[in-house]
Amino acid sequence: MVTETLLHFVWKYKLFDTGKLRTQAGEPISILQSGIHNFDAGPDFLNARIKIGNTIWAGHVELHINDSDWEQHGHHRDSAYDTVVLHVVYNDPKKMITNQKGETIPTLVLRDYLEDAVLERYNFLMQSKAWIPCESFLPKLNPVVLSNFRERLLIERLEGKNNHIQALLNQTKNDWEQVTYQMLARYFGSSVNREAFESLAQSLPISVLSKYQGDAIKIEALLFGQSGLLDSELLDEYPRQLRTEFNYLKRLHQLTPLHPYGFKFLRLRPSNFPTLRLAQLAALLAEDTKLFSKIINTSSMAALHRLFDVKPGSYWHNHYLFDKPSEKVKWHIGKDMKNTLLINVVAPLLFCYGKYKDEEAYCDRAMALLEAASAERNSIIDGWQTLGVDCMNAAQTQSMIQLKKEYCDKHKCLHCAVGISLLKHT
Ligand code: SF4
Repeated sequence: MVTETLLHFVWKYKLFDTGKLRTQAGEPISILQSGIHNFDAGPDFLNARIKIGNTIWAGHVELHINDSDWEQHGHHRDSAYDTVVLHVVYNDPKKMITNQKGETIPTLVLRDYLEDAVLERYNFLMQSKAWIPCESFLPKLNPVVLSNFRERLLIERLEGKNNHIQALLNQTKNDWEQVTYQMLARYFGSSVNREAFESLAQSLPISVLSKYQGDAIKIEALLFGQSGLLDSELLDEYPRQLRTEFNYLKRLHQLTPLHPYGFKFLRLRPSNFPTLRLAQLAALLAEDTKLFSKIINTSSMAALHRLFDVKPGSYWHNHYLFDKPSEKVKWHIGKDMKNTLLINVVAPLLFCYGKYKDEEAYCDRAMALLEAASAERNSIIDGWQTLGVDCMNAAQTQSMIQLKKEYCDKHKCLHCAVGISLLKHT
């Protein structure tokens, strides 16, 4: 199976026998410069230099699987293609092609010069059902290829998160504090309750919570009441007090609580129960509701870590759930959770703000933060480790997540430095 993407790839890297090329009419061809790959409208490679016979031509190159694509795409009527000096096709052409001036364009049939090994490896990569298509070739890969690619992958990962934050900013009329709070809430929900926590933060604006900064009870009442988790029969004095507070605040701020069924407890470790996570989030917000300002004004890594050193109210020192006392409750925000928040909330916000303000220093801080943060543990990182790819910090784990999700899973091997290297060195 040969695609135009593959043709572009072999043309760009000259992965064919360039010594004996001839046009369809039999004239010898030398590729002096294959041109600049054009991803916009117009010919595929711009400003190439091709010697055909004794003449050196400067112009563009267009590639197709079949020569009939030239007319099907309307290039014979398009002046943008008047300066195409070579038409490269894979299959044998059926007829001469011309530009809109009626001039004949020389054709090169690439099929005659392609190396079988390149095609075989390409087809293998495209059809492989392995965890990553190239895994059987990885042991032969020069490790420098992957380590050089990682920085680009990390930037791409942060760019993707930047787009997500931009969308949130659009929804909130550029309210950075609301967006920060929504993102934090999402990650306090851990993987099971992410959507529920995010819905909670959307339905209970930071502007309401900020009126009660410093008042941990009211902040807790608002978060628990709005989540619907105070809607059941409650025995302990403390949750009943929260409910009384919330009933007043609900009327005052015209709040409509969520359905409590969105919050799941099943199969979760108690330290991930939404009740304890909400208590921790409440403690964080009670200390300061201007968390975005705090993040961008904190330059030391240690201080960013300390941001999450908060202590929920004393009820949560011996409860994971309302009305059910427990011993040895791990009420603090643990090391892994802090790491998750730094990687998924703090670093992306710093990067996004740097882009927004066009101040690279914030982007650099985001990168430095990821380099200082611990490597994540998840199924993707475990998979890479099985293949012998180790990650030393969060910058590396984030880059490998990007590679797996955006390249390997989509079979985008021709756009990946590893794939390029594997195909160039067949
Ligand atoms: S995208 Fe790159 S790393 Fe992933 S399978 Fe293809 S060649 Fe390998």
